[in-house]
Amino acid sequence: MATKYIFVTGGVTSSLGKGIISASLAKLLQARGFTVTIQKFDPYINIDPGTLNPYEHGECFVTEDGAETDLDLGHYERFLNTPTSQANNVTTGRIYNHVITREREGAYLGKTVQVIPHITDEIKRRMLLLGQTGEFDIVITEIGGCVGDIESLPFIEALRQLRWELGVHETAVIHLTLVPYLRAAGELKTKPTQHSVRTLSEAGVQPDILVCRSEHPIPAEMRKKIALFCNVKTNSVIESLDAETIYDVPLLMRKEKLDERVISKLKLPHRVEPNLDSWKEFLGRLKNPTAEVNVALVGKYVELPDAYKSIIESFVHAGSANECKVNIKWFQSENLNCDNVASLLKDMDAVLVAPGFGERGFAGKLEAIRFVRENNIPFMGICLGMQCAAVEFARNVLGLEGAASTEMFPDTQHPIIDMMEDQKQVTQMGGTMRLGAYTCELKRGSKAYSIYGKAKVTERHRHRYEFNNRYLEAFEQAGMIASGINPDTGLVEVIELQHHPWFVAAQYHPELKSTALTPHPLFVKFVKAAINYAKSK
Ligand code: GLN
Repeated sequence: MATKYIFVTGGVTSSLGKGIISASLAKLLQARGFTVTIQKFDPYINIDPGTLNPYEHGECFVTEDGAETDLDLGHYERFLNTPTSQANNVTTGRIYNHVITREREGAYLGKTVQVIPHITDEIKRRMLLLGQTGEFDIVITEIGGCVGDIESLPFIEALRQLRWELGVHETAVIHLTLVPYLRAAGELKTKPTQHSVRTLSEAGVQPDILVCRSEHPIPAEMRKKIALFCNVKTNSVIESLDAETIYDVPLLMRKEKLDERVISKLKLPHRVEPNLDSWKEFLGRLKNPTAEVNVALVGKYVELPDAYKSIIESFVHAGSANECKVNIKWFQSENLNCDNVASLLKDMDAVLVAPGFGERGFAGKLEAIRFVRENNIPFMGICLGMQCAAVEFARNVLGLEGAASTEMFPDTQHPIIDMMEDQKQVTQMGGTMRLGAYTCELKRGSKAYSIYGKAKVTERHRHRYEFNNRYLEAFEQAGMIASGINPDTGLVEVIELQHHPWFVAAQYHPELKSTALTPHPLFVKFVKAAINYAKSK
């Protein structure tokens, strides 16, 4: 079967959830036996989101092959249970970079290089790339931003061209809009949808299906009206109500028959009904918890939960696995100090110290770690959180005054965390950290080993600093052991406290590999430890 292409565009406003709709549709098609992947095209000029502050764009999701990507790729992986790669996230910056580099190489043979056809050709080439691997029956392309934005125009134009080139049954366009409810008028309003479809049509793209986000059910009459004004069939006006969790959306879209509309438009073989049994089991456990815990998330971007998207979702997966409601309590690390930490964290059943960069909030993280270490409260540290755990231990247990990471304190006497050797020559910012999947060997008999149940794992990374092995012996003698090591470089990947019920910290990011149907063992066991701690109180 030749690969079919589905495009998801958005109008009216951003944040309508194109990523979740794309992932949910992909899930339904996958559950019918199709192989599906999703890619995201982002209209900004950065080559990738790696250099963006989390406040700008939320978390930066890292793929197995070490690409720094949009957080929507995290949703794709969490829903589909299949890894994405560099090819799944393309930005305007990457497109232009490629075209301009080729221009300097003389590849355009003296021609004037223009948005049409050179930029649009490059967009089309990338839109087709994953389909050409032969691995996928269906490629879903989510186009970031809103139709009508100046920066999304080349993407919409490339999509217009591609539809003609590939043929009507090879592509489907799903347009996501908003049907707002005006409380004063007591009515749902279709005009924004009409306008946004008109904008898309003016660019030469007629959508096949409309997914209408709404806070209230859209009555049949109104769907008819939208269909009439927007040139789609009434049964292709799909309602997307706010869901209790994002993991409900595949089932809601199934109810609305989004998958059937797509199958009929693309003339796909009508295979089996989607098998969503394991998905429903996951949801069943999630919604019927038998326990409840409070987990503190200590970080410096807590005002914007999107900055910790994958961690939050990992707790959802682990919560379901434990049939436990996990309440995440946010703590701005800047606000924690030795005087208030005990009273602020006293009701917590576990504490996670988050990844991050820079000095702001560093001291507060150390205070949180000292508190949980001394009080036997379950603790997990991720990346910077692990580095903080090492520094805290060095200062307060080994008595190494001023011990620090050279990221925050370049002149420290005790560089417990230091820049990796091969990072010292790096001058460019984007894409130059230690990124992506590396192997980690777990020490037999350690907590990490018992958590994973195996000796060799691969996990994803994003960092420039590492544990300084000069201090390892002193650490281990005092009860903090390196239970995970990279076999090729000797880099410390996991540290854990021997005389503590649950104190495990990783240099890598377990949250990037947790999915709905494969919750990450570290999170699963961490939540379990929180449940045990809550019971013991
Ligand atoms: N800033 C630290 C480093 O670069 C930790 C990075 C992170 O938490 N992702 O090593």
